[in-house]
Amino acid sequence: MEDLRDKYEVVIGLEVHAQLKTKSKIFAPDGCEFGKEPNSETSPITLGMPGVLPVLNKEAVNMGILTGLALNCEIPERCKFDRKQYFYPDLPKGYQISQYDEPICVNGYLNVKGKRIGITRAHLEEDAGKLVHAGADGLAGSSYSLVDLNRAGTPLLEIVSEPDMRSSEEARNYMEELRNIVRYIGVCDGNLEEGSMRCDANISIMPKGSKEFGTRAEIKNVNSFSALQRAIEYEIDRQIEIVEEGGKVVQETRLWDDNARETKSMRGKEDAHDYRYFPEPDLMPLKISREWVEEIRAKMPELPQAKRERYMSLGLSEYDASVIVEQMGLALFFDEVLKLGASPKIAVNFIMGEIAAYLKETKLEINETRLTPENLVELISLIEKNTISNNIGKQIIVDMMKDGSKASEIVEKRGLSQISDTGAIKEIAQKVCDANPEQVAAYKNGKVQLLGFFVGQVMKETKGRANPKAVNEILKEILG
Ligand code: ADP
Ligand code: MG
Repeated sequence: MEDLRDKYEVVIGLEVHAQLKTKSKIFAPDGCEFGKEPNSETSPITLGMPGVLPVLNKEAVNMGILTGLALNCEIPERCKFDRKQYFYPDLPKGYQISQYDEPICVNGYLNVKGKRIGITRAHLEEDAGKLVHAGADGLAGSSYSLVDLNRAGTPLLEIVSEPDMRSSEEARNYMEELRNIVRYIGVCDGNLEEGSMRCDANISIMPKGSKEFGTRAEIKNVNSFSALQRAIEYEIDRQIEIVEEGGKVVQETRLWDDNARETKSMRGKEDAHDYRYFPEPDLMPLKISREWVEEIRAKMPELPQAKRERYMSLGLSEYDASVIVEQMGLALFFDEVLKLGASPKIAVNFIMGEIAAYLKETKLEINETRLTPENLVELISLIEKNTISNNIGKQIIVDMMKDGSKASEIVEKRGLSQISDTGAIKEIAQKVCDANPEQVAAYKNGKVQLLGFFVGQVMKETKGRANPKAVNEILKEILG
């Protein structure tokens, strides 16, 4: 397949649905918290009862504008809502309120790892309910399905990219950055597994050098970044095979099955006219004043890209900066630590080292541990003042995360403070040399790399508490 790949160029555009973190639904007062008892968040509006009217949730609009601004979009002065007709058991009204030709955000872009990816539009819409296929193995083996309408009416922002991506890796990078952004601006929790962020990938291939895009297939049901990449890779190969055999790719919606590692045809792809869009008569077009936009722009928090750049200007490597930004909890913690005036270098060593390892091992988020930014800053200041060595710091940080104790308390209780008293170190160094006459002789005969051995012995004697610089100097003096 690899050589065939060279003959074709891949074109990818993503449609990403972000579930907005409003308290109530987009057109109804019911709550939209995840995991409630089925059908407990279902007002007559959500159920599509006759005679009810939708009322637009202003917070959903605010979040739509904020996201648009973060994605470098224009926010037109006017947008409107439209009905998109579907007939599914999880959509009681028989239509979804969405935005068709006048969306809330247009003409944006995102720079992802040096590549600019256009964002055609982002529009507000309501989610559908959920069908639970009961019985044996889900769809295939179910004998009946249950309908849960809690999710119906939850606000979504659908973010549609231009077909600007050329590889599965670019698509993944774009999706990851999009997730970072919606999380940092607080509009969506970006959880692919729980479905609060969902992605449809449109994929086509064309002969290299061609200007005309091929027919695309739309892949649904990718629930993780790695699944997105796998699904795209599979789909590229599938399409190449069809074209190589003289066939034609058909426009359709396909479902990714991550266990079988393949896509399966779900339905022929509808064109816009199949949905019979028309303006939603129960909602007025929405005027968005420039003052409103500016008010929201003023609340924009620091975006992931700016954060990475700031970290790099503090001396972090690009890699470290990206890893920290990718884990929002850690980044916000790091920012607090910086605000309290700690040395970024030492803080990063702890965060990327012992702290990250502990979080990985325990599967906790930093705010689920008992470490506070203040306590980390105190620990760092003890190291900077030479009260304790870096090594001792590494030994006690885990306890600080576990029980919330302060570094100074642990140092005091366990007698861990650094020995910088040269007299004391000299005594121990002399003892070590006396106990190892053969090594001393070898050292004096030119085997100078043995210095490390002596340093290690002194450290062992002092349980890591001796000031390493002083130990080195004193040993060189003694050994001549
Ligand atoms: P629909 O809403 O019917 O899915 P759109 O025209 O809005 O269709 O396009 C949806 C997505 O498909 C967009 O992200 C767009 O970039 C992408 N897309 C359009 N044409 C192609 C193509 N030939 N190959 C890959 N992606 C495409
Ligand atoms: Mg689509």
